[in-house]
Amino acid sequence: MLPLESKAIISKPIGAQLLKVLGIDEFPSTTLPFQRMALDLRDVPESMLGRGLLELPWGGLLRSADAPDLGDLPVLAIIGDGRVAKAGDVIEVDPLRHRIASRYRRGDNGNVLFATERCNSYCVMCSQPPRQVQDDWRLNHLLDLIDLIDADEPSLAISGGEPTLLGEGLVQIVERCASKLPDTHLHILSNGRLQDGSELHRRFESAHPNLSWGIPLYGDHYGLHDYVVQSEGAFAQTLRGIYALEAAQQRIEIRVVLVRPTFERLPQIARFIQRNLPFVEHVALMGIEPIGFAKAHHADIWADPADFGEELSTAVEVLDQSGIGVSIYNLPLCVIDRSLWRYAAQSISTWKNDYLPACSDCALKARCGGFFSWVTPAWTSRAVAPIKELVACPAH
Ligand code: SF4
Repeated sequence: MLPLESKAIISKPIGAQLLKVLGIDEFPSTTLPFQRMALDLRDVPESMLGRGLLELPWGGLLRSADAPDLGDLPVLAIIGDGRVAKAGDVIEVDPLRHRIASRYRRGDNGNVLFATERCNSYCVMCSQPPRQVQDDWRLNHLLDLIDLIDADEPSLAISGGEPTLLGEGLVQIVERCASKLPDTHLHILSNGRLQDGSELHRRFESAHPNLSWGIPLYGDHYGLHDYVVQSEGAFAQTLRGIYALEAAQQRIEIRVVLVRPTFERLPQIARFIQRNLPFVEHVALMGIEPIGFAKAHHADIWADPADFGEELSTAVEVLDQSGIGVSIYNLPLCVIDRSLWRYAAQSISTWKNDYLPACSDCALKARCGGFFSWVTPAWTSRAVAPIKELVACPAH
């Protein structure tokens, strides 16, 4: 697992909290102000470091902890795993806690703009349990961060908590992305409930050229969905929210997390989507991330995919035949039927993606999504076993 933050020596107060890490080879082509960049000198020979370069008004100079002293220049030295920052990343510097944290990783498939810790649902398997804290400061922080993200970044999620709790603040985030990152696919992960009865959805019409929404649906009737999100009335609110987003010409993905009671009714849920939400662009059928609230509810929510192969196959078939795009996320190839391999995506963010010892002998490891780094035997299918022969796996 890649580290998200590390202890650091921070030689003097740093002006900007968020800094773009810059490799020395990128230096001539960058247009950012020096004050917003940390020049990465960790692999640069000392003989190449002239005072003229070092004394430019850098936000920081990233050095090895044992590198020679640079006097009163703004040196940042990571203590521990240096992979917390590399060229192209954005780091947050915290001089009070003597820490550096990663806020954007160049080349990672799972970069997230984290909008808020607050949420109006309380899902039984929530991997990021909500906290009812005042964190409005995140809005300006995110607007600053967006300015430092690579313009050719392919995709970003906007997540939380529940991002729509930011109201107009979420519109500002999307608009800033439209201005700075118009080619980036933005995917807002929302429970859709605040789109019900408000006019917020209208604000996203034409707000960004490549914007979509990921909305969870855990049941084909209110009792099941409301149980999973632990909120009475959520099913009706989410459905009305989905229709409101459709009316605002938004692209919508339905996300179905495969907790046991949902897995049991997966074919019915697929038919419900087919009949009632035929306009959705994509459905993601997602294995559980075994962290947060999920750990406390293991007995109620864990379902070995090996026991639900028929339900999974039927749901995929129903959606596929309806012309709705369908993918399987977070499930390794060896636990699903071979006919479903073409729907399986390598969906786990690079920094929290790992494989088990059994995988080292597997011919399909390079194509398999593997596991969350925090998987334990209790969350591992009995079907996990290396696949010996390389089998054609057509791209989905
Ligand atoms: S053995 Fe490992 S790499 Fe191979 S399919 Fe199973 S989980 Fe994936």
